[in-house]
Amino acid sequence: MTILTAILLVAALAGARAAHASDVVRRDEAEPGSTRAAAFDQTFQRVVGPASLDATRAAYDADLERLRAQLPAGDPLRDARFRALYCGSDRWKDPAQGLAYADEALRRARDVRDVASEARAMLCRTAYLMAASGSQRGLPEIDKAIALLQGGPEQQLLGEALHARGDILSLLGEQARAMLDFQRARAAYRGAGIEGEVESLMLSMAIGYRRMGDFEQARRHFEAAATRLEARGDWEAVATNLIQLGFLHDESGAPEKASDAFRRALAIAERERDNYSANAARLGLAGAQVALGDPKAALETLALARAGFAAEQDTSNDDMLLLLTGEALARQGQHIGAMERYRQAQPLIERNGNQRYLADLFKARAASEEALGWTAAALEDYKRYAGLQLKLQGKMRLQQGLLLEYESEIQRREWDNRRLRAEALGKQQEVAVLERVRRWQTAALALGALLVALLASLAWRQRARSRAMHTLAMRDPLTGAASRMGIEDEAARALAQAHAEEKPLSLLMLDLDHFKTVNDRYGHAAGDAVLRAAVDAWEAQLRGRDPLGRVGGEEFVVVCPETSLAQATVVAQRLLEATRGLRFPKIDPELRVSVSIGIAQCRRDEHRDSLLDRADAALYRAKQRGRDRAEA
Ligand code: GH3
Ligand code: MG
Ligand code: MG
Repeated sequence: MTILTAILLVAALAGARAAHASDVVRRDEAEPGSTRAAAFDQTFQRVVGPASLDATRAAYDADLERLRAQLPAGDPLRDARFRALYCGSDRWKDPAQGLAYADEALRRARDVRDVASEARAMLCRTAYLMAASGSQRGLPEIDKAIALLQGGPEQQLLGEALHARGDILSLLGEQARAMLDFQRARAAYRGAGIEGEVESLMLSMAIGYRRMGDFEQARRHFEAAATRLEARGDWEAVATNLIQLGFLHDESGAPEKASDAFRRALAIAERERDNYSANAARLGLAGAQVALGDPKAALETLALARAGFAAEQDTSNDDMLLLLTGEALARQGQHIGAMERYRQAQPLIERNGNQRYLADLFKARAASEEALGWTAAALEDYKRYAGLQLKLQGKMRLQQGLLLEYESEIQRREWDNRRLRAEALGKQQEVAVLERVRRWQTAALALGALLVALLASLAWRQRARSRAMHTLAMRDPLTGAASRMGIEDEAARALAQAHAEEKPLSLLMLDLDHFKTVNDRYGHAAGDAVLRAAVDAWEAQLRGRDPLGRVGGEEFVVVCPETSLAQATVVAQRLLEATRGLRFPKIDPELRVSVSIGIAQCRRDEHRDSLLDRADAALYRAKQRGRDRAEA
């Protein structure tokens, strides 16, 4: 659901989205060249200075157009400076066109050897490359821009570039590396003499927290920021924060709160005529509506969002539009239509390289395949989904290691710097400074440890969540036994092993007797309690490696590896006995239940389905011959 940030990012990188004032503002040819140059420089300082970091888009756009009007003729340096900024104007709707303009800007910046303009043109190129060929493609370009700026005097621009790279990494799921870039961006901003926090950077960090699963931290930030920005009247930023808050609620399983936040964002964006935020809010709202089980409303919202994005010629959210449309159709039972949307969405998501969306896609597709009865395909997709989740977790661990390495390197470098500075001072001062350095180092160590601990705990939570999701697909929520999918998986695996090792394997199929009567007489909740009690009693009788799974309402399967038919019959007798012994004092002390069991031992190279069929046939015989018995 977070593709939104991709366009946020492109917008941020591109810097400006000119308000089409370009055709209104004209150059004042009467103005003498020197005055014009001075006016240009003044505006330029404002556009690249600290004030621009938290400027509203409209104010920034207006300055950009002013700059265009003030550009003196025949002045290659100022021309290069102007182009490196103007390449981010939203006049370049088509990424190819924007890229061509950025290329030209880069060439001119190199001609006049203006490093800052060169780096700005590269940032533009990054944005257009991403828009044209996916987020991944932006990384090498922005790395070049950062390398160019590192150690130079353009600290604010370095901060902006690091911030942007952090956004890209965060989008690609590399949260630890993203956090590092954000921290380095913060240091660079400080180095540029910017006091206080840069609001957009704080927003990026909060998004990172959200994506790492630290919802509490993220929520606190979004809410505080929304209040702060509302007081300042920066409605565009308020809408952005509300949209992020919406995604946060959505991901933490609170679709009502999510829908509320998206609606508030949408109202503000519509009032402020901020089309970009309005479309993003619609996309989020549609997701919440799907989650709330209102696919009809979701499809309506999606139609508005699709039209809105099309009006802006913005195709960067097509993958999410398709995925959500598929999910809404699936909710309406239109699984074939849903599958078609997923088919179209997959290459777009893969191009963007976001593993999280891909995991969402597999999960949604598996659900539709299951509903269509395509069990094999569903199983494959659940596996893909589970595999991807595991990969995402592995990435998290890797990032922790990287962060640790990186933190200690920063500390070492800082220590060196301070020591050198101390040496340059007088002896008396030196003692005081070293004292401070020691204190600082202790603090930095503590901070580093804290950060690592924080990340470790986030990774842990992330892992726990993924496990919970995997368990959800493989476990039956009512009884805690394996789900149909889970037990079929187990059976296939055990069967393959039995064939490979030429060992016996038996399978029991269980069906509670006259279970309908239990429901009819005591109600459905009592029936559920009986199901749970039966599973508990059976689990107590089974060896740990004989998995039990629920394959239907009151039908179960037990897989017994390395078990002959004779041994399986003994197991079945134990299960019959355990079932007869069940008592339900809370429902009715007189209530007795029994189960019928079919047993089959696998034949050489027999397929799982055929084995299940034979067990089922044996079960049918057990029912026919009076129930409460086992037949082989
Ligand atoms: P038989 O001995 O022939 O198996 O009779 P039966 O009544 O058990 O068989 P039948 O298949 O006709 O009915 C199964 C019943 O199980 C019908 C359904 O209401 C009930 N059932 C299925 N799933 C659940 C469930 O999750 N909870 C409860 N409480 N009942 C369920
Ligand atoms: Mg039945
Ligand atoms: Mg039954």
